[in-house]
Amino acid sequence: MHEITLVTGLFEIINREVAARGIESISKVRLMVGELAAVEPMTLAACFEVVAEGTVASGAQLEIETVHLTGRCRGCASGFRIVGFRFQCPDCGGGDVELSGGRELYLESLEAICKGDHNEATAA
Ligand SMILES: [Zn+2]
Repeated sequence: MHEITLVTGLFEIINREVAARGIESISKVRLMVGELAAVEPMTLAACFEVVAEGTVASGAQLEIETVHLTGRCRGCASGFRIVGFRFQCPDCGGGDVELSGGRELYLESLEAICKGDHNEATAA
C-alpha cells in the first residue's frame, strides 16, 4: 500500500518539527497532494489515524488539499490547468506540454501547541 509509505515519510517530517519546536500536541495537519500523486484521500486519512495513534498527532485533523494538474507549453510558454489528461496547449494548440504541477505531495502546515507558550503555532 502506497499511502502507508507516504504517511510514514510524513511522520518523519512531523517528528523533526516536534523535536525542533517542542511541540506538545498537533491539532491539524494540512497536506498538499497533487492529482497525479495517486493518493486515495480516504486511505491516506485512515493510515494517518493509525500512525498518529499514541503520538503528539493523535486525534489531529488531517486536511488534504488537492493540487490540480497544470502544464506549461514549450511552444508559447503559456501555463494552464490540464483537465481530463488533455496535454494540449489551449492558447496555441501545441502538444509539447511539460508538466508543471500535480505530482507533489508535501506537508503544507501544522497547527500545534508548543511547550511553554500555549499559543497556536503554524509551522511549514
Ligand atoms: Zn502554446
